[in-house]
Amino acid sequence: MSALAQQHSAINLGQGFPDFAADPELLDAAYAAMQAGHNQYAPMMGTVQLRSAIADVVKQHYGFEADVDQHITITSGASEALFCAIMAITEPADELIILEPAYDLYRPAIVNAGGVPVAVNLVLNETQTFVVDWDAVRAAITPKTRAIIVNTPNNPTGNTFTEQDLIELEQLAERHHLWVISDEVYEHMVFDGALHQSALRRPVLAARTIHVASFGKTLHVTGWKIGYAIAPVALTQAIRAVHQFNTFTVATPLQLGIATYLNEHPQVIQALPAFYQAKRDRFRAGLTGTGLHVLPCQGTYFQLVDYSGLGQFSAMSDVEFAVHLTQHIGVAAIPLSPFYGAPPAHQKLVRFCFAKKEDTLVAALEALQLGL
Ligand code: PMP
Ligand code: GLN
Repeated sequence: MSALAQQHSAINLGQGFPDFAADPELLDAAYAAMQAGHNQYAPMMGTVQLRSAIADVVKQHYGFEADVDQHITITSGASEALFCAIMAITEPADELIILEPAYDLYRPAIVNAGGVPVAVNLVLNETQTFVVDWDAVRAAITPKTRAIIVNTPNNPTGNTFTEQDLIELEQLAERHHLWVISDEVYEHMVFDGALHQSALRRPVLAARTIHVASFGKTLHVTGWKIGYAIAPVALTQAIRAVHQFNTFTVATPLQLGIATYLNEHPQVIQALPAFYQAKRDRFRAGLTGTGLHVLPCQGTYFQLVDYSGLGQFSAMSDVEFAVHLTQHIGVAAIPLSPFYGAPPAHQKLVRFCFAKKEDTLVAALEALQLGL
């Protein structure tokens, strides 16, 4: 969709990335690390400076005591952490449960590791929130189930776990001896005063969990590809065994720059929910009158819209509608069906990314108001 957006000079609200600059002090901190000569391989598990900064963040936010040496591995974005985690735990023919719509990396990474993805669909409830049907998850468990992958706040739905979801997950993982891969890359984008329900908050669950996160999202630098996995010792060893022969280690000065920046600006993370909530509210308000129906957005920088109320477009598939929006209305969106193995019939949803400058949002909203 980004290529199509470029081809048609459409405003790209498709792919999830900010179009505004990161804090210059973060950039300066990385450049200072380069100038100070930190341009050779970092330790395989990541620099101690960044692992320590991460330990501080998870202690402060989730009360989780991470061992800097034995629990944290820095990776090339959350993507590599997820890939290593999946490779680390999957034996041939193991089943891994994913909740769909799901981030597109999980399914091919499981297949690549010789495993079998078992999809359980999230359920669109009466408030149009995508929620987990834990009975359906239980029903999908077999003796071959090795792990479940969860993602809260969720891409693409924009919905979040409740505390009860975490309790269900913990009980299920305990009872069936499952590992949990908890993709929490949007952990600091939770709105309306709600708490992010990190798997690290519950010790019994954390003992079975690989928590995956990314500075690309939190610090507005998706191109830096610095993420990490936090996991119990045995899992960390297995993750590092993959990481060692995959990327081995990731950009030293970027790791050091992030560590310095987090140490000097511990408040940046706390400011993030309000920052993105303002953009969410702006974007949702601007869609009023377009005929697009907005679904609840509890977290992430994604907004789902339902176009079934738009008579002239309602017969289109979500892919056709997203292509039409890009080519003829000048705003790119992402259809929901590619996030499923078997998409539900008749679902008319597309995803917009609102991690954009005010000017970009205004221009996109104008185009949608005019074109729909
Ligand atoms: N998981 C989810 C749910 C994501 O949205 C993304 C980013 N698109 C990733 C993982 C990958 O993050 P990174 O860019 O740090 O590899
Ligand atoms: N996570 C972002 C998204 O869902 C972008 C990552 C990608 O393009 N693979 O849009």
